[in-house]
Amino acid sequence: MMLEEVAILDVEKVIRDFEAMTKDAENVQRTTLKLILEENGCAEYLQKLGLNGRTDPESFKACVPLVTHKDLEPYIQRVVDGVSSPILTRKPITTISLSSGTTEGKQKFLPFNDEIMETTMQIFSTSFAFRSREFPIENGMALQFVFSGKQTKTKGGLLAGTATTNVYRNPRFRQVMKSFRAPICSPDEVIFSPDFHQSLYCHLLCGLLYREEIQLVASAFAHSNVLAFRTFEQVWEELCADIREGVISSRVTFPSLRSAMAKLLKPNPELADLIEKKCSGLRNWYGVIPELFPNVKYIYGIMTGSMEPYLKKLRHYAGDVPLITADYGASEGWVGVNVNPTLPPESATYAVPPNIGYFEFIPLNENAEEHVQDEVKASYPSVEPKPIGLTEVKVGKEYEVIITNVAGLYRYRLGDVVKVMGFHNMTPELKFVRRKNLVLTINLDKNTEEDLQLAVEEATKLVAEKKQEVLDFTSHVDVSTDPGHYVIYWEMSGDVSNEVLQECCNCLDRSFLDAGYVSSRKVNTIGPLELRILGKGTFQKILEHYLGIGAALSQFKTPRCIGLTNNKVLKILGDNVTKTYFSTAF
Ligand code: AMP
Repeated sequence: MMLEEVAILDVEKVIRDFEAMTKDAENVQRTTLKLILEENGCAEYLQKLGLNGRTDPESFKACVPLVTHKDLEPYIQRVVDGVSSPILTRKPITTISLSSGTTEGKQKFLPFNDEIMETTMQIFSTSFAFRSREFPIENGMALQFVFSGKQTKTKGGLLAGTATTNVYRNPRFRQVMKSFRAPICSPDEVIFSPDFHQSLYCHLLCGLLYREEIQLVASAFAHSNVLAFRTFEQVWEELCADIREGVISSRVTFPSLRSAMAKLLKPNPELADLIEKKCSGLRNWYGVIPELFPNVKYIYGIMTGSMEPYLKKLRHYAGDVPLITADYGASEGWVGVNVNPTLPPESATYAVPPNIGYFEFIPLNENAEEHVQDEVKASYPSVEPKPIGLTEVKVGKEYEVIITNVAGLYRYRLGDVVKVMGFHNMTPELKFVRRKNLVLTINLDKNTEEDLQLAVEEATKLVAEKKQEVLDFTSHVDVSTDPGHYVIYWEMSGDVSNEVLQECCNCLDRSFLDAGYVSSRKVNTIGPLELRILGKGTFQKILEHYLGIGAALSQFKTPRCIGLTNNKVLKILGDNVTKTYFSTAF
């Protein structure tokens, strides 16, 4: 009888292929566009635009307009409703990805197909190959905090789930993980559990059971990695008791989970003693990850953009184990791959594989001009921004990303801003800068997610001096007062004096350096910034609210600005405020 064998990934070949295609990025882009248009030229969307079989970039740009998700919604809706004629792609779309809804406040429906799955596996394999050169994994296991939500059926009969769910539920995913010689240590029942609390507990338990084998600790976004070890701080004694007795805690109630874990657990007092000793010996959980998993080579997950605020905590747990940021993509498709794994996340870049889609970039000269561009566009719809091609971008410049992919998106504005940091052969290496949307604006002021992040980073230094931390943060603009003002919400690890928090509030106000904000504050057309401190567990409630409406933990990103119509989240915040400070900085 033949055992099922999964071939080990040939990392040198993966790297060679990547080098070859990035050396020829311009041609590969042309070919990729040609293949996409040949395949889907018969789809209604492209037919209407009069390409008439042409597949060159020039005709494509001349005929096909730049679009946002809103423009495509009527088409995607018909796909979701099960209309079987070719609408966006020749082959029928059978699966829909739901975006996390935490970057723009609303979940979007997006087509997902085998081709997207293949590009996902290409991205995972490429970054793994580059990581393997620096940090080889040898017959180890991965403690991977993978949470796959449910796939449901749309009324048209399509499968729908978050993009991560669609990937994790695809059999190719486990196969590819095996080819990395780092299979996930948790059984499928843990990954597919409907309850993330129970799933997380079991992931931690599996990790401890395989502690010697674990060579990497990973999650899709760094947020889940931090959440996992914060949870470990709370439940480690219970985990040790389970290991000692060989019986899983009564907190795990799903029979499928209990029986899957029962297969792994046997009474093991020595292991329980060892873990207890290690945990008791730690100072404030510094270095808990290498302490628990002595052979861990690195910690992996998306750590850039809105994940940067979690890096400090993750480094604390990681001790001297390197943090490596995972790749850059969205429910819409992939954009870049991390081929420089030795760079710390703060300076990480993503190289664009030129064969996974056709990429264009709208130049954004200055922050201010970028916003004007949209306003101009609204009043003079004929003024279209002029995107440039993948190999035409310039180092040091910022751009908005436009993607054309293998799943029916054509010249789609992703809504992300990136900066070109350099080139890998002929393809650009991008730094993720921010979501394009303004997060905070009242009148002249224009502050982005990145500006908010920087202001919070500055003010949290004052908290760090007092040996406390800001666990998470968000904001909104309050225009119910006259003048309107910014409100920043913080959940903290412990108590800090009123004087320090007042200083933090002033520091936040002073740290928004945008000229519009500063001048409006000086003349009081924007009122004093307000810092509201939240009770313990508020962000957990927000997370659960989002999970309750269909977001996936794996893709969760704390929304950094709460829209005025998001009553549910505003109510959770409002109900949990414990203290309030107004800036006296101006
Ligand atoms: P979603 O489709 O809801 O999971 O969100 C996708 C968005 O997450 C992207 O458009 C980016 O704004 C953000 N994102 C994804 N990958 C990265 C990354 N590596 N670095 C920073 N932000 C990222």
